[in-house]
Amino acid sequence: MTDTETVAQDVKARIEAEVDRLADVLLEVSHDIHAHPEVLFEERHAHDVLTQVLEDEGLAVERSAYGLETGFAARAGTEGPLVAVCCEYDALPGIGHACGHNVIAAAGLGAGLAAAHVAAELGGQVLILGTPGEEGGGGKQLMMDAGALEGVDAALMVHPAGVDLRTMDTLAIQRCTVTYSGHAAHASAAPEKGRNALDAMVLGYVNVAALRQHITPFERVHGIFLEGGHAANIVPARTVAQWYVRSPSRDGLAVLRDRVEACLRAGAEAAACGIAFDWYDPAYDELVGLESFDDLYVANAGRVGRTPLRSGDEGVPSVLGSTDMGNVSQVVPSIHPMIAVSPPDIAIHTEDFVRFAGGPEGDAAVLDGAKALACTIADLWLDPEALARITNEFAQRTAT
Ligand SMILES: [Zn+2]
Ligand SMILES: [Zn+2]
Repeated sequence: MTDTETVAQDVKARIEAEVDRLADVLLEVSHDIHAHPEVLFEERHAHDVLTQVLEDEGLAVERSAYGLETGFAARAGTEGPLVAVCCEYDALPGIGHACGHNVIAAAGLGAGLAAAHVAAELGGQVLILGTPGEEGGGGKQLMMDAGALEGVDAALMVHPAGVDLRTMDTLAIQRCTVTYSGHAAHASAAPEKGRNALDAMVLGYVNVAALRQHITPFERVHGIFLEGGHAANIVPARTVAQWYVRSPSRDGLAVLRDRVEACLRAGAEAAACGIAFDWYDPAYDELVGLESFDDLYVANAGRVGRTPLRSGDEGVPSVLGSTDMGNVSQVVPSIHPMIAVSPPDIAIHTEDFVRFAGGPEGDAAVLDGAKALACTIADLWLDPEALARITNEFAQRTAT
């Protein structure tokens, strides 16, 4: 073993011991957030619980950071590579922590605190970012817009799932609310005076159905009708639909978005109705996967007895979704590994997953995830060549 490896082993053993020292607090935080589910941008309880622990442990904490009431930032270290750990803590409407963000928050908290414990010694800086509103709000992009990633060299988080994976397969996504305007008229007495906003919406829906035959295999377009009129004998003057558009890349998303708009406009034109698009910003970008960065995490996950698999390999299930960590990964080198808290047949966003995220399997993921992330941060601080490899791969992947 070289001197460098001996130092790394010693540091990592102390990081893991620090997570063990914090274990009771981390699991209490995980259970507390799990028991108090809060939807996007309403995560006041989680914000207060997390920032209190950070402050109790002696970190400099900024509450309601970067323009978001439920966002926060905590720092340790004064020089060297700056690594951000992202904590998510929003729940889903109706079913609570079905995405297990309580595990993300507690694992990120533990990773950040354990890294802070050795930051001065290793010449590194850590930034623990509380990033609210992941389930549709794009909190990370909003915080980035306000400067949250300035000077950051790399970013990490870990997300619970039914399997340990190197990363998540992602689609870029943007959501849109579409409002149609026509003219109301009596549907029997004076239909010729009406302009039917429901017809406009239905024709657009059918156009999108035809479009689906000519898009790429992993592109997705799905819509629902939110308002379709009030009475069958009144020609609907106003209707509203909601659409999600997804593509493997943000460039592909921009193209598909235009094609979907054209389909919907044609429906409105056919029915002589007005149409207004309200695209929700920010859109979510795809994750920029970095083999060199994923490798570091995988090695450290091995230290706690986990073997993150490569999705796409034989027999390995993949998790396909969208995350605002994708936006982060476009700007700084990032990882978004998945950590198992349930059997593979239990999908996230289900009631079954809620139980696992708050149970013993979720607890194990909190502690293992904290250790693996913190040891990965230590690698970035200890090994300038590893950070350089990651930075180079990132530059290649994001070169246009
Ligand atoms: Zn989710
Ligand atoms: Zn999630």
